[in-house]
Amino acid sequence: MKIQSVKINLVRLPLEEPLVGAPPMPGMLREFITVQIMTDDGIEGIGVTTFGGKIVRTLMTAVQEFGELIVGDDPLRTEQVKAKLRAASASCGPGGITALAISAIDIALWDIRGKAFGQPLARLLGGLRDRVPAYASGALTRTTPTGKLEAAASALVEKGYTQIKTQMAVDGLTPAQEIERIRLIRDAVGPSVNLMVDINQRWNVHEAISIGRQVEELNLGWLEDPAAHNDYQGLAEIARALHTPVCAGEYLYGIEPHRQTLAHQSVDIVMIDLLRAGGVTQWMKIAGMAEAYNRPVASHLLPEIHVHLIAAVPNGLVVEYMPWTWRLFENPPKPDKGLMTVPAGNGLGLNFAPDLFKTYGVA
Ligand SMILES: [Mg+2]
Repeated sequence: MKIQSVKINLVRLPLEEPLVGAPPMPGMLREFITVQIMTDDGIEGIGVTTFGGKIVRTLMTAVQEFGELIVGDDPLRTEQVKAKLRAASASCGPGGITALAISAIDIALWDIRGKAFGQPLARLLGGLRDRVPAYASGALTRTTPTGKLEAAASALVEKGYTQIKTQMAVDGLTPAQEIERIRLIRDAVGPSVNLMVDINQRWNVHEAISIGRQVEELNLGWLEDPAAHNDYQGLAEIARALHTPVCAGEYLYGIEPHRQTLAHQSVDIVMIDLLRAGGVTQWMKIAGMAEAYNRPVASHLLPEIHVHLIAAVPNGLVVEYMPWTWRLFENPPKPDKGLMTVPAGNGLGLNFAPDLFKTYGVA
């Protein structure tokens, strides 16, 4: 089998928050670069990449140039294709735009592999189970007014979610006011809902330990990125000081920094971002490293693809259901009572929505 052509598109999806209709996070762009790799025996593999910045066309050009380099290559030789792309990017990498671009191609190659072998990606990678827990993300952000938190949290529980996430480190609030926000949510959803909190690196180590101790009694599922993502020792201090698990990893590029967080015992739960990791290939390697350290893994964004990965591995904890990408697909899997089912089709089991490029394409 040979790669015959690679097609790239840029799409811009509307800003929305469909879980509870909360206002979207200001300043967030939802632009995606789609990849379609055609093979000489008629299989098409699809992939996607993105980031929240303003130089998305630079990423698009990188994917385009990588795509031109792999025409004629065997799409089943994933590591060979990626070695070629890493060599082509020379010293521009291994992180940043290089990683994000290679990930889109890697995802499409795994889609081709699944279709070639007639198996859903989750089964190709181990197939531990077909249904996984998912948590509601993005509906209870730090920009949600305090007066709207209880209703939004209750709406998520009414929709069947048993796991939900909110954020702390709200601009202009004191720690006491912040803790009160979390208590409002905890009281609204009751003790049996798994409530997680994302800090997005906005605390220093001292704040994380101090505020973290004050919220221990609220029995949180995890504190996510409580301090700088690459302060491995600082995160380890926080993890040691708190009973609440520390979750981190979404900001890390490639596999090696995950080795650092694991070796330093900086995290109790490893979060893996498919695009920053380097695609399906590298995601699986990180999950394997985490397994060796007896740590569960959680996914970051792109739930429609991550459902396969969390379902495949023995230490897959939960899928983040952030509803930013469902419009890309004709048949997106969505959570039902807090569970997501792996798409039944081969490969990713996903098709781009038929009118995606007509409706949302950017020239
Ligand atoms: Mg996060």
